[in-house]
Amino acid sequence: MADVQMGETETFAFQAEINQLLSLIINTFYSNKEIFLRELISNSSDALDKIRYESLTDKSKLDAQPELFIRIVPDKSSKTLSIIDSGVGMTKADLVNNLGTIARSGTKEFMEALQAGADVSMIGQFGVGFYSAYLVSEKVVVTTKHNDDEQYIWESQAGGSFTVTRDTTGEQLGRGTKITLYLKEDQLEYLEERRLKDLVKKHSEFISYPIYLWSEKTTEKEISDDEDEEEKKEEEGDVEDLDEDKEKDKKKKKKVKEVFHEWQLINKQKPIWLRKPEEITKEEYASFYKSLTNDWEEHLAVKHFSVEGQLEFKAILFVPKRAPFDLFDTRKKMNNIKLYVRRVFIMDNCEELIPEYLGFVKGVVDSDDLPLNISREMLQQNKILKVIRKNLVKKCLELFSEIAENKEDYNKFYEAFSKNLKLGIHEDSQNRAKLADLLRYHSTKSGEEMTSLKDYVTRMKEGQKEIYYITGESRKAVENSPFLERLKKKGYEVLFMVDAIDEYAVGQLKEYDGKKLVSATKEGLKLEDTEEEKKKKEEKKAAFEGLCKVMKDILGDKVEKVVVSDRIVDSPCCLVTGEYGWTANMERIMKAQALKDSSMSSYMSSKKTMEINPDNGIMEELRKRAEADKNDKSVKDLVLLLFETALLTSGFSLDDPNTFAARIHRMLKLGLSIDEDETAADDTEMPALEEDGNEESKMEEVD
Ligand code: ADP
Repeated sequence: MADVQMGETETFAFQAEINQLLSLIINTFYSNKEIFLRELISNSSDALDKIRYESLTDKSKLDAQPELFIRIVPDKSSKTLSIIDSGVGMTKADLVNNLGTIARSGTKEFMEALQAGADVSMIGQFGVGFYSAYLVSEKVVVTTKHNDDEQYIWESQAGGSFTVTRDTTGEQLGRGTKITLYLKEDQLEYLEERRLKDLVKKHSEFISYPIYLWSEKTTEKEISDDEDEEEKKEEEGDVEDLDEDKEKDKKKKKKVKEVFHEWQLINKQKPIWLRKPEEITKEEYASFYKSLTNDWEEHLAVKHFSVEGQLEFKAILFVPKRAPFDLFDTRKKMNNIKLYVRRVFIMDNCEELIPEYLGFVKGVVDSDDLPLNISREMLQQNKILKVIRKNLVKKCLELFSEIAENKEDYNKFYEAFSKNLKLGIHEDSQNRAKLADLLRYHSTKSGEEMTSLKDYVTRMKEGQKEIYYITGESRKAVENSPFLERLKKKGYEVLFMVDAIDEYAVGQLKEYDGKKLVSATKEGLKLEDTEEEKKKKEEKKAAFEGLCKVMKDILGDKVEKVVVSDRIVDSPCCLVTGEYGWTANMERIMKAQALKDSSMSSYMSSKKTMEINPDNGIMEELRKRAEADKNDKSVKDLVLLLFETALLTSGFSLDDPNTFAARIHRMLKLGLSIDEDETAADDTEMPALEEDGNEESKMEEVD
């Protein structure tokens, strides 16, 4: 990777995407440059967390520098701003990898977000916060010392490359990192103490390490020795004009302004979670949330609580306004609760603390009971942690129901995190009922709003015992599905479940409030009939029994059976799936996931039942023809065509679209009275079709 070797200095090329990112940061106009300081302080804080955690099991790790701090040094003479921490530091390999040659997954995503108009302050969320240094600097120098390596200097003016040099002569850090920014001429405001203090207050107030600013102080010292007076006289020359009293005064004691520097502590550090909730303002929570998460927006909701009794802990949980860009990135286990033990940061990403489906909830937990030197391995069996986890889940669900009290907020929340709730339904059997209360769906009666299951139940018609739903690819695809015809006619509301994950969730949920959830597209949909309806149905069944048998013979293995339908009113037929097998939608999802194990697929894939509508003109005509001649070729062709169109209207895909298209084309030719010429010597002839509105609409649909 090193191109040039010049003595101790090695030059490295930035990885291509990082290079792009740097040009974007340097060349695009952003007014909100100040966030660079928050990013660098946040990196320092992370580095301090790391060394503190390491030192819990090995105290000697702190030997080289026992104090944990962040220091900010503005230097007007050199126009540099330095951020120094006594964190874990970086080895040479860390420097090369972390600051230039290995791009994070967020690099590209961040650039795309920027180009789509996102704000640069989002940078920290994408894990590339360090590069924000180039918002204000023309050159950045990173000096760093890790316990396991020598001190190294990283340096770059962007422009495609950086250098790394072993630092043998410079000021020795002991342990930690010093980032020196050579500020651009128009960014010298970041050398002003006032500005720096305000920035730390605004963005980094809740960093749990002391942040010191190297501050300039002046004192007036009074000197009254004679030597000094004489010198003064010489300098001032003629002093006769001066006021006499003053002159006298001056002779006695002279004030000299003395400038000196000292470290000034500029953040509070008292953990906010230790304070009483009623004394914390919304702004303080927001500012804590931002510093905890790098989010540029405020949180949507917060819950601050403490649990006392046998086990004690304090926690603050936040729900963000949006889902992060990598919410369901399976490579990355998401977990956003920071674990503290008696005020000491222990770790992020503690998997045992909160279930995966709540990975989007951010916050802190501070336990009084866990041992300080707890390791990740110990956490897995830890009973205290299990209790904490249970409490956190409970509090999260409470928080969500609180959000649900405000419609606008809940819409935002639901849009961002409904998939998580549904994952929860799938995985968390203990809280399934509570989670079900949080679900919202569009339905045949909900209009533009979404409905809860609870509201659905209040609207159930007299005599309705079950909750009906249909799954599919989109609201549009299910809204006019043939499966809904009879349900609609009876006035029963049907929920539209159009998220892929709905299939999994509803499969686990099974019922709500004692009412079974029934799929409109599966077998087992039984609607109550009046006596008259029952009688009529029996007659129809008998009349169409023959056709059903003929159709099953023609379709063979394609369908399990052919029966007279109870659910369609207008369409000629539809294909339903077994009550416990996959729906058409699930089949689509599984195909899209390219199931590894095809045996599973054939085992679960839908056993289809063709349901026909005896009241439909096509079916009536078909019945007549089949009764007249069982081997009528036109019957065979029509049945196949009906089957294929039913696949489509029922949400399945066609295995062989070409054969289907050929059938349609032949029908078009017939419709247009084009003679089937000799080239179409096909054994499946198309029958002459009667003028039939239904058939025409089918053709349009396929087109
Ligand atoms: P992020 O901090 O989100 O991982 P950055 O681009 O800000 O992304 O930093 C990249 C990496 O560089 C960090 O993950 C860390 O390993 C390293 N790093 C940055 N700043 C420091 C620091 N002050 N001390 C130690 N390591 C640091």
